[in-house]
Amino acid sequence: MAAQTYFHLHSLRCLPVPLKIQNPQNQTHRFKRNPVVCKLRVAVIGGGPAGSSAAEALATGGIETFLFERSPATAKPCGGAIPLCMLDEFSIPLNLIDRRVTQMRIVSPSNLVVDFGKTLKPHEFIAMLRREVLDSFLRQRAESSGANLLKALVTNLVVPTSSLEPYVIHYTMDNCQHQLAVDAIIGADGANSRVAKSIKAGNYTTAIAFQERIKLPEDKMGYYENLAEMYIGNDVSPDFYAWVFPKCDHVAVGTGTVCSKSNIKSLQHAIRARVKPKIEGGKVIKVEAHPIPEHPRPVRVRGRVALVGDAAGYVTKCSGEGIYFAAKSGRICGEAIVKASEGGESMINEDDLKREYLRKWDDKYFTTFKFLDVLQKVFYGNNAAREALVELCGDEYVQRMTFDSYLYKKLASGNRWEDAKMVMNTISSLVRCNIMGREVEASAQKILSRV
Ligand SMILES: Cc1cc2nc3c(=O)[nH]c(=O)nc-3n(C[C@H](O)[C@H](O)[C@H](O)COP(=O)(O)OP(=O)(O)OC[C@H]3O[C@@H](n4cnc5c(N)ncnc54)[C@H](O)[C@@H]3O)c2cc1C
Repeated sequence: MAAQTYFHLHSLRCLPVPLKIQNPQNQTHRFKRNPVVCKLRVAVIGGGPAGSSAAEALATGGIETFLFERSPATAKPCGGAIPLCMLDEFSIPLNLIDRRVTQMRIVSPSNLVVDFGKTLKPHEFIAMLRREVLDSFLRQRAESSGANLLKALVTNLVVPTSSLEPYVIHYTMDNCQHQLAVDAIIGADGANSRVAKSIKAGNYTTAIAFQERIKLPEDKMGYYENLAEMYIGNDVSPDFYAWVFPKCDHVAVGTGTVCSKSNIKSLQHAIRARVKPKIEGGKVIKVEAHPIPEHPRPVRVRGRVALVGDAAGYVTKCSGEGIYFAAKSGRICGEAIVKASEGGESMINEDDLKREYLRKWDDKYFTTFKFLDVLQKVFYGNNAAREALVELCGDEYVQRMTFDSYLYKKLASGNRWEDAKMVMNTISSLVRCNIMGREVEASAQKILSRV
């Protein structure tokens, strides 16, 4: 039971800071208040997919919710690809989708090309959306569920020294400084999270992702109508992949790396060289770069603060996918707070957040993240391994299993005989490509033990 009598009904923020929002000039702003006085008050910092999903779950569950977003009009640098299951689970209207990718092409270092969408069923596709469109839809939905949406930059977070005090958020809105006292915080403020720093959550390794948005001549855009391409090779990335993704009326051409960040521009040059004939005549309309977390932070919950999405480090290896996991972690965390506080009626603590949020998250996704980590180590390490990967991708069973896992976010349970065949094919491809060194062998054994 989360409730503790001395916390009940939020003595916390009623103590040092009034329930009103104040600025230094003593101007006060009253926000839409929950009719029931002194419900649990939670601030969500960051209005991306993680923050909006958290705020929606909190507000729906009866929590007094504040969602802070510093720049609602800006698009986060992103490919904007989301899996089919997200459309259903998060009720995303189909009219928000710009493109339905039904063909994936993977190109090896020696330019061996494999088409990767052969096993898709007629209703299956990868949805491509503009982030500004998706994010603003999710934010508005959180607001209509009852969250107070603030266009504001959070500048500081004062962590209390005792569990009897509230957290105080300092923020800038309309060129004025303000403060807000809250009972708990969800940090959904992305890879450069200020909330994570404030609670000393520790660092994670990041990759850098760099991409150019290129407007192509009409005939060339036609080629990428429903096609996404992945290029692998030392030239385009020593440890990740490069891509051409179709966006609403242009393509995003980019690459990522962890170990060679200072060479990102020459890696980008290399992917442009590899796709040159297909993008010739195109005009660069935007250049963007952003960090991608490589693994979860050492601490994801401290006190009454929880981190979600990129702030927590939930991006998968191999694919660099984070939108779905951001939204999902935000929702799980929001629901956890609703449950632990009995709909906002009682105070929560660190144990509640660990039990109701972290444990549920780790039970559901720890294996998926680890599995993709091992795959990345095996297949992205050198060009011989990358050739083996592309060779394997030609196999229809591998394609079906990969797409099922991606589209539906379950480690697909396949046919035992086919699984065994797939493992044997993996090993023989690796052997054929002459790279079955000790390290790779050990990683392959780990994969074997999981199928
Ligand atoms: C180039 C690139 C391509 C990618 N492509 C894909 C893809 O195709 N598919 C996929 O699934 N993932 C992709 N990702 C990963 C994906 O973009 C992230 O995992 C996802 O955006 C995480 O969502 P989030 O809500 O946790 O954080 P974010 O989307 O980063 O949102 C954080 C929000 O917090 C706000 N904020 C930050 N600090 C403050 C503050 N102090 N005060 C107020 N507001 C603040 C920001 O303005 C932002 O809106 C890509 C990443 C990159 C870099």
